[in-house]
Amino acid sequence: MKIICDWENCNEIGAYKAPIEKDNSKKYRLLCLNHIKIFNKNWNYFENMNDQEIEFFIKSDLTWHKSTKTFGSSDNFFNILWNNALDDKLNIFKSTNFRDFKKTKVSQQDKDALQVMELNEEVKWAQIQSKFKELVKKYHPDKNQGNKKFEDKLKKITLAYSQLKKTLGKK
Ligand SMILES: [Zn+2]
Repeated sequence: MKIICDWENCNEIGAYKAPIEKDNSKKYRLLCLNHIKIFNKNWNYFENMNDQEIEFFIKSDLTWHKSTKTFGSSDNFFNILWNNALDDKLNIFKSTNFRDFKKTKVSQQDKDALQVMELNEEVKWAQIQSKFKELVKKYHPDKNQGNKKFEDKLKKITLAYSQLKKTLGKK
């Protein structure tokens, strides 16, 4: 028994799975090649993922699809995403792999340093540098009548910056 494309007024064979919801549930409908392509274009799979999840997803993707040779085409890329989502492979975000990935990405020391510099974890090195300059200006004793409180603050910021330079500055 052939399944007919679920698109309105289409009688082609529905050979491609299109997820109905974005929550990685297994609900899907079957579409023909033309309609899966249209559907692909309207779907932003990454919408509810944070940057780190997307990054991990893309990296781990390479290990999932060794057999795929035309990974570069975006149509194919989204097809793969969906098929994996439907196969429950997205559960990688709950897996040890992802937890390790998270752990290695930002160490506790870096986290503390970022907090001192009033930055979030997704920050780029260039942003850290400009923030450092900004904070140095703001807390420089010359600008604060030699206030001891600001001097300590500046010391902390400098330590935080040198910590981040060691880890993030290399990239
Ligand atoms: Zn169709």
